[in-house]
Amino acid sequence: MNEADTTRPSNFIHNIIEDDLAKGELGRVIATRFPPEPNGYLHIGHAKSICLNFSTAAKYDGFCNLRFDDTNPDKESLEFQEAIKADVEWLGYQWRDEPLHASDYFDQLFEFAKQLIKRDKAYVDDLSPEEIREYRGTLTTPGRDSPARARSSEENLQLFERMANGEFEEGQYVLRAKIDMASPNINMRDPTIYRIRKSSHHRTGNKWHIYPMYDYTHCVSDALELITHSLCTLEFEDHRPLYDWFLEQLDVPCHPQQIEFARLELDYTITSKRKLQQLVADKHVEGWDDPRLPTLQGLRRRGYPPAAIREFCDRVGVTKKSTIIETAALETCVRDVLDKTAKRAMAVLDPIKIVITDYAQDKTEIINAKNHPKDESMGRRELSFGREVFIERSDFMEDPPAKYFRLAPGKEVRLRYAYIIKCEKVIKNEHGDVVELHCTHDPSTLGKKPADGRKVKGIIHWVDAKTAVEGSVRLYDRLFNTENPAAAADFTQHLNPDSLEVIEGAKLEASLGAATPETVFQFERVGYFCADRKSHTAETPTFNRTATLRDTWAKLESN
Ligand code: ATP
Ligand code: MG
Repeated sequence: MNEADTTRPSNFIHNIIEDDLAKGELGRVIATRFPPEPNGYLHIGHAKSICLNFSTAAKYDGFCNLRFDDTNPDKESLEFQEAIKADVEWLGYQWRDEPLHASDYFDQLFEFAKQLIKRDKAYVDDLSPEEIREYRGTLTTPGRDSPARARSSEENLQLFERMANGEFEEGQYVLRAKIDMASPNINMRDPTIYRIRKSSHHRTGNKWHIYPMYDYTHCVSDALELITHSLCTLEFEDHRPLYDWFLEQLDVPCHPQQIEFARLELDYTITSKRKLQQLVADKHVEGWDDPRLPTLQGLRRRGYPPAAIREFCDRVGVTKKSTIIETAALETCVRDVLDKTAKRAMAVLDPIKIVITDYAQDKTEIINAKNHPKDESMGRRELSFGREVFIERSDFMEDPPAKYFRLAPGKEVRLRYAYIIKCEKVIKNEHGDVVELHCTHDPSTLGKKPADGRKVKGIIHWVDAKTAVEGSVRLYDRLFNTENPAAAADFTQHLNPDSLEVIEGAKLEASLGAATPETVFQFERVGYFCADRKSHTAETPTFNRTATLRDTWAKLESN
């Protein structure tokens, strides 16, 4: 992207960085970090943060760290950590060196906490959690000093060491910053820095009996990693004075700048790890990678290309204003990428059999079809054609309106890449349902226009009955039927009961059976479909609908 590119939204963070670079005072390379807490799977909102942090570092020839914010042993696990790494890599980014962890700094954080105590900037408090809350005051009333605020540094140091040695129970003591109980910013009213937790940590095991709080850990970790710009979401704006306060008190190697931007939220879905967790735990969806979820694992299983997600984050831009973005905008990016990259194939989801009565019983022709109408480099594949083919039930109408160009009694239609056929007879069962169509074909029209110049407008897709593989196809619709489920009192009341439709017995062209899991195809005229990474095999072909085509009744691209 060059500077004259006006199709891209501006990025105010890049403007800040460029100003900082112009001043020449940083004295170090541009450095960012992506700091997930390993307490769940990443979602599309995190993708925005990932794209922003990694692409910003790349743009200014700096580096971006992946740092796990693992300060809460009760909720975090190795499983989540490994999944997050896989997701970041899948999105196409590479962190510098090895992944880092806040827990890598527990020793240093402990020493820095003692530095605070020695400088009379922190104290050990024995108020109960309820009392601490009560002393804190409210938005309209100031807080009150805890009696423990008067404790001497020596005593505080001793108590803090004893907290670390595991001599006390959870909740008995906390270490608090000594700032200002009357501050209009509640975050500055002597926030907790350390609390006692008897849990085992997934990386440090039972070494620690105390764990540092996020606000304290985050700024110190940033400084130790020589981060220049610490990019976070808007809810941390009120925490920035605290971020700066800690760094001002401590002998840290640098003072990174925290900059906040608006969270990415999408309509008709939720982007909160806690709520996603609830959907999974209560079995409203199949798991974290359910293709209806906006988790990166879900989007991946659905067939969303990482390039489309990156493009979407780029188009959304970085601002200070919270808005809910249309999921349709993400789908547009998905289609834009897949239109260029997905091989075409034919699949019939709701089949009806056609018997071409004037085509020899055991004859088979091999048709050489392009994998992509506009990109010859994507190669060709062989389609077999025989006396019996399947077409989509919706491509036939017994009693069509005037401008109907698909199959109808006495009418002609072209079978994509193959012949023009004419419907001669409609076969019904005893209930009057159409079960089969008998057609004739014009043998001179294999990939050619009729010699007599007659016009046949409709082209429909089909699958050869002899070689078709049968598969299951999952159609997804939005998971919620309300635009902003997060705002509802109980978001689970707004789940769309029709978010999943499973079609068994879809007829797929033979090549689809051999598809590599996770490959996305455009089933011509039907939509984009991804071979499921968990269940697709040659014996059990299984496809997930990635996206519908732009129009439901899309025009076929020319041969
Ligand atoms: P959640 O609210 O879903 O629990 P979180 O903020 O607690 O998310 P973290 O693991 O702490 O999850 O997030 C890692 C990084 O991703 C943070 O820097 C956070 O600001 C950013 N992030 C999280 N959600 C979004 C979002 N919706 N849009 C943009 N960035 C986000
Ligand atoms: Mg968080």
